[in-house]
Amino acid sequence: MEPIELTPEIRERLRAAARMVVFSGAGVSRESGLNTFRGAGGLWERMRPEELATPEAFRADPAKVWQWYAWRYGTVAAASPNPAHVAIARLESLFPSYIVVTQNVDGLHQRAGSRNLLELHGTITRAVCERCGRGREMGEAIAESPERPPLCVCGGRFRPAVVWFGEALPEEVFAQAHEAAATCDVFLSVGTSGTVWPAAGLIELAHGAGALFIEVNPEPTPFSRLADLRLAGPAGEAVPALADEIERSR
Ligand SMILES: [Zn+2]
Repeated sequence: MEPIELTPEIRERLRAAARMVVFSGAGVSRESGLNTFRGAGGLWERMRPEELATPEAFRADPAKVWQWYAWRYGTVAAASPNPAHVAIARLESLFPSYIVVTQNVDGLHQRAGSRNLLELHGTITRAVCERCGRGREMGEAIAESPERPPLCVCGGRFRPAVVWFGEALPEEVFAQAHEAAATCDVFLSVGTSGTVWPAAGLIELAHGAGALFIEVNPEPTPFSRLADLRLAGPAGEAVPALADEIERSR
């Protein structure tokens, strides 16, 4: 990757910024080996997420969906945060307001130390009772019942605490993400193509409100032309280098 050259204007805007939002997608976890859940999964390799990650699939065959999530949880638990997650967590203490909004369900931002975190699509690290909403740790739920969803004290079934295809994003979480994007001074988009809603909406919102927009993605996206600064490297290299420059600016 080329060294990052910040213009004096961008350096000044980074120095003066009070509110920063980091918006992350699948690309941030690629170097943790979680680029795809369709990879080498033996039995599960031929399964399509669109067919299993739905409320209909869970109703029709809860055991099958549960086992698939147990496998996915295993791949996530075996993965580690990469330098991109670590750099994103390290910047949190530099800004009075700093929010990570992620589309990922792998929990790696949290494990890297990010605290102010909005998980738009939920998390695979938690299970939730579909009847009463009681939550528990996913690893414990799988250990207790690896073959089928364990039952809650209320008699309901536990399911992964993720947003499935066809389900609405959690309203309160999305409202907070919307508010953060609309009021931030710096909006950093990492590892998302930006084409899937609500990614596009949040980027447009932040840019329209005058935030400094930085994009990290190996490939150009529909939003690259709006970027004040665009880094074309992989997240694990580009984000730590950017974080160094932001630290120098503060
Ligand atoms: Zn319950």
